Order: sequence, then structure tokens, then C-alpha cells
Amino acid sequence: MSGIPDLVAIEAMDAADVLRPMRERFVLPEGLVYLDGNSLGAASPAAFAELTEAARQEWGQDLIRSWNKAGWFEMPVELGDQLGRLVGAAPGQTVVCDTTSINVYKALHAAMGLRPDRSVIVAEAGSFPTDLYMAEGVASTRAGTVLRLEGVDAPSIEELIDDSVAVVLVNHVNYKSGELRDMAALTKKAHEAGALIVWDLCHTAGALPVDLDGSNADFAVGCTYKYLNGGPGAPAFIYVANRHLAEARQPLSGWWGHARPFAFEQSYAADAGIRRFQCGTQPILSLRALKGALDIWNDVDMKALRAKSIALTDLFIQLVEAKCGAYGLTLESPRDGTRRGSQVSFAHDNAYQIMQALIERGVIGDFRAPATLRFGFTPLYVGFKDVWHAVEVLEDILRTGAWKEARFAVKSAVT
Ligand SMILES: *Cc1c(COP(=O)(O)O)cnc(C)c1O
Repeated sequence: MSGIPDLVAIEAMDAADVLRPMRERFVLPEGLVYLDGNSLGAASPAAFAELTEAARQEWGQDLIRSWNKAGWFEMPVELGDQLGRLVGAAPGQTVVCDTTSINVYKALHAAMGLRPDRSVIVAEAGSFPTDLYMAEGVASTRAGTVLRLEGVDAPSIEELIDDSVAVVLVNHVNYKSGELRDMAALTKKAHEAGALIVWDLCHTAGALPVDLDGSNADFAVGCTYKYLNGGPGAPAFIYVANRHLAEARQPLSGWWGHARPFAFEQSYAADAGIRRFQCGTQPILSLRALKGALDIWNDVDMKALRAKSIALTDLFIQLVEAKCGAYGLTLESPRDGTRRGSQVSFAHDNAYQIMQALIERGVIGDFRAPATLRFGFTPLYVGFKDVWHAVEVLEDILRTGAWKEARFAVKSAVT
């Protein structure tokens, strides 16, 4: 096994890691290697502190006064600006609200409205499915809308973009393979055909730096409960480029998107800015937990984050292939780290059972149907020794066939 780093070399990597101190800012159960921050990020004392203050003092004692006194009403746009810094969005274009699914709907509908003489939505067959479901929902409200899919109607998304396309809906990092798209290039391609583009950043935000403004993106949406660690069901975000804000109309025209919500006017009049992309009252406790989680990012160098992410995932691939190469695993992620998000996926015929066996042994990743073992590497709290340990356990499970025990084949509702 020459050429493979040994434990001493790996401990040196942890010692040299400039992001190592960030680990202390998270709650990580003893003895667990957590490689599922791409599905639900870890908790933090900062999130707990915000949550406790919001619940005990602001809700408990100050009650209705907190909408003004504690700034509850402004939180979606304030957190939007804070999050915007992590995705290359200047202030005033991002709001934290609703879910990613709902925001996909709003963005797609608004984009279609900006291209009224076009009827085609381009998306990916390999997209996270909710994006496609929401695209079907938008299509159902507009007779004649056509959905063109990469992987069905053509092998590559670029081939589907022509002057009949209103909007391209695309995942920046694929949830399953981790494949990373070139945001600037694909955005340019869409614009050259006169189309708009909606970027889904669920596996990007908090995983790697990205430049929405610099790429000339039109819309973007994303999660805050994955790499941003906002907590289960934390509200999502939506970005709308400044140049579209005056014209973009979203269909869920609730009172929080109104120019004067407390004038209680009879008719809808959209706010002039990004607030128009809100719908109704937002989950304040969840927003406050997210605030605690986002504050941690004030101290993170995004270049260092990306460098560590590539180093962690490269090491994982190298160790798995060296130590588990005989057991039928096939790499499903790009081998080139610059073309990969912060995750690694391997295919195996018995992926489900193997993942259940790993979880029982304290190495948590996840399974994606039909046959993918998916491992997420959150650079803020995963270390190089965690990678080493995860591969040791995986090798043991494969070599001994421990995953063959019947209990590992029992399926749970959430995988
Ligand atoms: C996780 C994820 C979602 C989730 O959407 P919700 O509405 O928050 O359930 C959507 N799109 C992508 C690409 C995702 O990875």
C-alpha cells in the first residue's frame, strides 16, 4: 500500500488544518463520524443560544412586542443578506423563507412570466426530484408548457437550450453524484439563447464558494439545513438578481410580499425589493436557530473551506480504492476534485445494507436509491482522521460480510 498516507501522515493533516478550530463550535456526539452534513448539518451551541433566547425571552416574556423589539419582522431579509455573502450575492437580492421546493416554484413561475412568449422549461432527469415535481406544478398552471429533460431529450443540458426556452432549472452540485456544474458558462449559454436560469444551490451553500452576481445568475434557491447547519426544516433561501426585481412576479402573493403589509389594503401590491418573494409569516424560532448557525460563517475563509473539502474527498476516494477495492464499489463522483462538490458517492449492489451496517458502527452517511452510498464531508467539522476511521470501518464491514445480517435489510421511511 505504498503511496497511501498512514495514520501519522493523517494526524499531521489534521494538525495543519486551519479550519480545525471550527469543529469546537459544533455539537458532535462522542464516537461518531458524521458524514451526513449534506442531508442534515450538525447542531451548534450558537444555534441553541439563539433558539433559547428567542423562545424564553422574546416569545415567553416580550410576546407580540418582539416583532419590532427583537427584529423578528426583518429577519428574513437580514439573514438573506448574511447568507448572500456566502454565495456571492450583494445585499438586497436574497431572502430566507419557505422551503426550497416552494422557492423553486416561485422562481420558475417568475422566470416564465419574464419570458411570456416562450413555453419550454429545461431541467435534468437526474435532478433532485422535488425540483422536477415543482416544475410539473408550474407547467400545470400554464397550458402549453413543455418540460425538456437532460438525460431524456438529450444527453447534455447545453443541447436542450435554444430560443424556445424560457428558463433553465439546474442543480449546481448534483445531490447524488456530487458533480459540479460551471455556473458562469451555463448561465452565459442560457442568456445567449435569451433564456433565464434558476440555480439550485442546496449542495453548494456552505459547501464551496460560488459567485451568483459574478456569474450573472438570474435566480437561485437553496437549503439552510444541509451544509449551513440551520437545523431540521430550517427555512430555505431565494435569490433574485437586482435587474429582475422590479419585474419579477411570484405567484404566491401573500401579505409578507406586499409593499405595505400593515396597511391591510384590499389588493396586492408587490414590495419593490426582494421582500416580494416572501409569502406569509415565517418560522421565527427556526430563523433564530439559523442565525446562530450563520454567525459561525463570519469567521470562515471560503478559499480554505474549498481547499479542505477537496483534500478530504480526495483522501476518502484514495483510501477507499486502496483498501476496499476488492469488494465491488464503483466511484460515482467525479475523480477531479475541482469538478466535485463536498461529497463522494460509491455504487454497490448492496448499498443499503452496507450503509445500515456503517451507521450501526457509528459512521453515518446515507443511501440514495437505487444503489448509492453517499458520504458528505462538511469541512467545518469533519477531520482527516474521521476519513481514515470511516474507511477502516467500511473495509471491515466489507471484508467480514457483516452487512449480510438480515436486520440491515429492513427499510426505514427516511434513508
Ligand atoms: C435537499 C434538496 C431539496 C429539498 O427541498 P425541500 O423543499 O427543503 O424539502 C431540494 N433540492 C435539492 C437539490 C436538494 O438537495
